[in-house]
Amino acid sequence: MDIEVLAVGGYNEFGRNMTAVRCGKEIVIIDMGIRLDSLMMHPEIEMENTHSLDLIEMGVIPDDTVMNQIEGTVKAIVLSHGHLDHLGAVPKLAHRYNAPIIGTPYTIELVRQQIEGEKKFGVNNKLYPLKYSQRYTISNTLSLELVRTQHSIIDTATVVLYTPKGAIVYALDFKLDRNPVLGEPPDFAKLHKIGKEGVLCLITEATNVNRKGRCPSEQLAKSMVRDVMTSYEDDKNALIVSTFASHIARVKTIAECAHEIGRKPLLLGRSMERYCSTAEQMKYVRFPDTTSIFGNRRVVERTLRRIIKGPRDEYVPIVTGHQGEPGSILTRIAQKDTPYRIEKGDKIMISAQLIPNDMNRAQRYRMFTMLSQQGGRIFDELHVSGHAYCEDHYEFLNMLNPQFVIAAHGGVNLTSEYLNLATDCGYTLNKDFFLMANGQRQKLA
Ligand SMILES: [Zn+2]
Repeated sequence: MDIEVLAVGGYNEFGRNMTAVRCGKEIVIIDMGIRLDSLMMHPEIEMENTHSLDLIEMGVIPDDTVMNQIEGTVKAIVLSHGHLDHLGAVPKLAHRYNAPIIGTPYTIELVRQQIEGEKKFGVNNKLYPLKYSQRYTISNTLSLELVRTQHSIIDTATVVLYTPKGAIVYALDFKLDRNPVLGEPPDFAKLHKIGKEGVLCLITEATNVNRKGRCPSEQLAKSMVRDVMTSYEDDKNALIVSTFASHIARVKTIAECAHEIGRKPLLLGRSMERYCSTAEQMKYVRFPDTTSIFGNRRVVERTLRRIIKGPRDEYVPIVTGHQGEPGSILTRIAQKDTPYRIEKGDKIMISAQLIPNDMNRAQRYRMFTMLSQQGGRIFDELHVSGHAYCEDHYEFLNMLNPQFVIAAHGGVNLTSEYLNLATDCGYTLNKDFFLMANGQRQKLA
C-alpha cells in the first residue's frame, strides 16, 4: 500500500489547517479550519452567506481544489479539536465529500452548531462523536483513534490513523500538561504503546518549539489569575476580565475567583454562551452556582445597564475582546458603545496573550488607551500557552519515535524552527523530516 500526505492548508500560514492522508485508494482528511486574520481583512463579508470559492480566494479557508490531483475516495473527515482554525471551514467544504465527520463529543457538538449557522450550503455529512480511546473502523485496512491530550480547549485529541505500514499521528495542537485544571492529563500510556508498535509519520505543530523548557501547566495561569483577582477582595471598584471564550478551564478559574471574593460571575457574549453553555450542558465543567451566562446582544446590553446601577463590586463580567476586536464587548465598553461606564480605579484583567499580528496590535493599543483614559487599570498577560514548548516536543518525539516527521501549523518561518530539534534527534531535512507548503504531496511508503 502506498501512502502519502497532502498539505492542503495551514502550511503557508497560521490558520486554515487541513491535511489529507491517502492510503492506497482511501483518503482521510484531518481538520478543516479557517484563517481568522484573513477574515478580519474583509469585515464586510458575512461568512455564513459567502461561497467557498470566494473564501478560498480570500485565503480564509483551505484551497481544497488540490484534492482533485489525488485519486481515491475520502472515507472520513476527522477533527482534532474545537478551535475555528481547525473546524471553521467544515460548513463550507465538508459537503463536497461523502464521508462522516468524526471528533470527540464536544468538538462534534461545536461543529454541529457551526453547520446549523451555515446559510449557503446544505451540509449533511453524518456527525460521529468518538470518545477517547475508542476505535473507529474506516475499512479493512484503516482504523482511527482519538488519543486524549491537553490544549487550550477541552476534549482536544491527538489523531491516530492506523495503517498497515504503521500509525500516522497528527498532533495539532497539544500541550503535555500533567496537572491540568480541567480534564485528565494526556494519555501517556497510550502514546508509549503507539510508539512501541511503530509510527510511520508524525505530523506535529511547531508553534512554540522555539521556546525553551516545558510549557507551564494551566495551574500557573490559575494562580496568576487568582493572585490578581483575590487581592482586590476589599476593593469596591469594578473588575472586568476578558479571556478566550473557548478556554473553558480558564473561564472556570475566573468564575471561581469571582465567587471566592463574593462577586457573581457574569459570562457575556455570544461566543461565551456558545462554548461555555455547551460545555456545562455536556457536563465537562461546573461553574459556581452564582454564575449567569447571557449571549444575546440585547440581553447583554440590558444586563450591563442593570449592573451599572448597583454596587460595582457585585458582579465580575467575563467578556470577549482581549484582542481589541471590533464589535466585541470589551472594545464596545472602551468606546462607550454600551450602557456600562469605566470609572477611575476599575480593574480590567486580560487573561490572554496578544495573538501576534499587526491588526491585533493596533486594535489592542487603541482599546487599552481608551480604557486607561477613562481611569481603568489594566492587567495584561495573565496567561500561559496551550502549545507545547521545545522540551515537550523532545519528549513527544522520543516517545513516538516516528519514521518520518512533518512540521505543520504555520509557514516555514515557523515550522522550520522544528528543524533544530529534529536534527538533534537524528532526523535529516528532506530525508525523513519534511517542511511542506500548501498543495504539496509527500510520499511516505
Ligand atoms: Zn488549537
